[in-house]
Amino acid sequence: MQVVESAHPTTWWHRLDDGRIRCDVCPRACSLHEGQRGLCFVRKREGDAIVLTTYGRSSGFCVDPIEKKPLDHFLPGTSVLSFGTAGCNLACRFCQNWDISKSRDADTLAEAASPEAIAEMAERLGCRSVAFTYNDPVIFLEYAIDVADACRARGIRAVAVTAGYVNAEPARAFFAHMDAANVDLKAFTERFYHDVCAGRLAPVLATLEHLADQTDVWFELTTLLIPDLNDSDSELDRMTRWVVSRLGPDVPMHFTAFHPDWKMRDRPPTSTRTLTRARSIAMANGVRYAYTGNVVDPEGQSTRCHACDALLIGRDGYRITSWGLTATGHCGTCDALCAGVFEAAHGTRGPQRRPVSRVGAG
Ligand code: SF4
Repeated sequence: MQVVESAHPTTWWHRLDDGRIRCDVCPRACSLHEGQRGLCFVRKREGDAIVLTTYGRSSGFCVDPIEKKPLDHFLPGTSVLSFGTAGCNLACRFCQNWDISKSRDADTLAEAASPEAIAEMAERLGCRSVAFTYNDPVIFLEYAIDVADACRARGIRAVAVTAGYVNAEPARAFFAHMDAANVDLKAFTERFYHDVCAGRLAPVLATLEHLADQTDVWFELTTLLIPDLNDSDSELDRMTRWVVSRLGPDVPMHFTAFHPDWKMRDRPPTSTRTLTRARSIAMANGVRYAYTGNVVDPEGQSTRCHACDALLIGRDGYRITSWGLTATGHCGTCDALCAGVFEAAHGTRGPQRRPVSRVGAG
């Protein structure tokens, strides 16, 4: 299939004295000559401006449980319409979506998808939210914002799944249109970000502080634990102390299992024991809601009351097995508030993922 690229105008750039144009979306600060693309591949210099080449194009759609994002405290049990585009502004060697994120192939963007068409599809499929996922939405933020606005006009929430590697001004613009986010906190050392992701940690922490201090976006954190790279007790201790002190105890943390993939096939998969250890460290440091992911671990994936330890949301994988919250999101046993976005009852979507073959197809 031959796909014609779009050239959507963008604003986050400025001219340099040497004639190049610098993109200001993310800390990469790509400086581009005519016709060049940034590291993300999707932002490109055309003439005297930088354009977004993937506006209105998707790499495909799926209906997922919201727990798969992962978001455990945001409309539990409901359906989310997931979609992505192509490209990424990090270069993680362990990427689990590398076929999309590192795509240089226009065929990846097989679906024409206007913001209104996506919102209409989400509504028709019974999705309570739409998620920008598979690749990082900050690189296509103009498109993501328009999709979010079209969805919100129909009462459908917007969810960003992002690494948070974005500059302050575009971050402010982007998150103003989001209702929830899952942000990767990939490690807690600059060395890891530099060596494994070709990025930096500090801008990610700044994004997280922005979310906590200046927005109403509900957000949760995900750390993919890779054996011997980011799973030491001391790193997890420092990370989780920082989260509690700078973001607060109510930000849920998800510790998920690595599986050998992309350019990192020389490491074993993460053991459940490692994930449980990380969860224990987090909770000992004051994180109220810490979860394991990508493994079978019902206890590690269930939500308990931070005050009385009653079971609030039992889970088995992506299936909800019990519900102990009141209609106002309080503990049914002791009435302590459980942080999150809850309704009187949980959704009943179940764990299946359902690909959607075409915009306009059910
Ligand atoms: S968004 Fe893309 S073009 Fe812009 S600085 Fe980041 S990697 Fe470079």
